[in-house]
Amino acid sequence: MLHDQHMHSHYSEDSNENLKAYLDIANRQGIKYFMTCEHVDYDPPTFKKSWIADFDALRKECKTLIPLYPNITFLYGIELGYREDHYLDMINMLRYHKFDLVQLSAHDDGIHDYYLKESFMDTYNDLCSYFDQVFKAISNFSDFDVLSHFDYGFKTARMVNPSEDIKLYEDKLIKIFNKLINDNKALEINSKVQNTINDDEYLKYILNLYYSLGGRKLTLSSDAHKVENYRLNFDKYIAMIKDAGFKYLCYFVDRCEHHYEL
Ligand SMILES: [Zn+2]
Ligand SMILES: [Zn+2]
Repeated sequence: MLHDQHMHSHYSEDSNENLKAYLDIANRQGIKYFMTCEHVDYDPPTFKKSWIADFDALRKECKTLIPLYPNITFLYGIELGYREDHYLDMINMLRYHKFDLVQLSAHDDGIHDYYLKESFMDTYNDLCSYFDQVFKAISNFSDFDVLSHFDYGFKTARMVNPSEDIKLYEDKLIKIFNKLINDNKALEINSKVQNTINDDEYLKYILNLYYSLGGRKLTLSSDAHKVENYRLNFDKYIAMIKDAGFKYLCYFVDRCEHHYEL
């Protein structure tokens, strides 16, 4: 059974969930791997301090939990927010801590927080800048395995303008997808973002576009911040991914890619 590779626990600034809550569900569902992907975001524009998960404390807690779940292998992930002005901090974070999976995200550009509707009031221009920032992230920073929620900003813009059409940004998406494909990185389908966008035609378009460019490496993750969202709608999205022609989904152990056959 495909495990979730993107959940947050209380080690992330925006989650209160306990590791044990996720582990109990994973254990009940017979899942082999357990991994949270905690936030590191430097200097977010709408918060007073950086979001830096205490990975030492997380590992220490996991050490006490490992014996309680003998059928589960513990893995360690990070969701690293790209910031040009914190490039060295990002490099040093990965030098200091060892991870099984590094997910790169564009949550903000230092001024605009892409979680907030106010960042997409001039929807077309703001979305162009957003996709440019995603491209910049994957071009300037290479030490990652998966691009997380490439459509995080689009999800917010859709809340401002529900009729916003993704096809207007196709040239920018092609640039992002081609860069990932050339660099052998995987693209995340984030089920929380898909649930918010709530448009199957949108997801079909994305999957077909990525596939048509030669993209085969996908991950499916929930981005759960609470246990109720663990493996959120995985069955539905696995079926859609399969329908689009994909034969496998990727997962990572010790930064090496493995395949879950569909
Ligand atoms: Zn994120
Ligand atoms: Zn996340």
